[in-house]
Amino acid sequence: MSDCLFCKIVAGDLPADKVYEDDHILAFRDIAPKAKTHILVIPKRHITNLSTVEESEWPVVTHALQQLTPIAHSEGLEGFRVITNNGADGGQEVFHMHWHLLGGGRLPGF
Ligand code: AMP
Ligand code: ZN
Repeated sequence: MSDCLFCKIVAGDLPADKVYEDDHILAFRDIAPKAKTHILVIPKRHITNLSTVEESEWPVVTHALQQLTPIAHSEGLEGFRVITNNGADGGQEVFHMHWHLLGGGRLPGF
């Protein structure tokens, strides 16, 4: 998607502080971290959000979820929080599906 911020990061047209990459997903540091460690994990292909995942796309969603723990461990995190904001009312601002991986110290409850 040409006007999508995260597709531009995937394409290398915008910079990102990458922490993990494979054929299907990319993980990079959030530009405005809300925790000591704040990483965004995204599918490389454009998927708007959880509510728009097509049947053929579930394997990449599963793959992204499987990689969250290894990515957290590579950052030295044992415990961590995963959030996906889904739709405008869910607080989603970038409409390319992503998981916020948050950690570092004891996170506050909510
Ligand atoms: P959301 O509100 O769930 O859509 O989250 C979007 C996240 O993307 C926010 O936490 C932003 O700080 C983050 N963000 C926006 N632009 C960039 C960027 N160029 N590089 C890294 N993170 C970004
Ligand atoms: Zn996109």
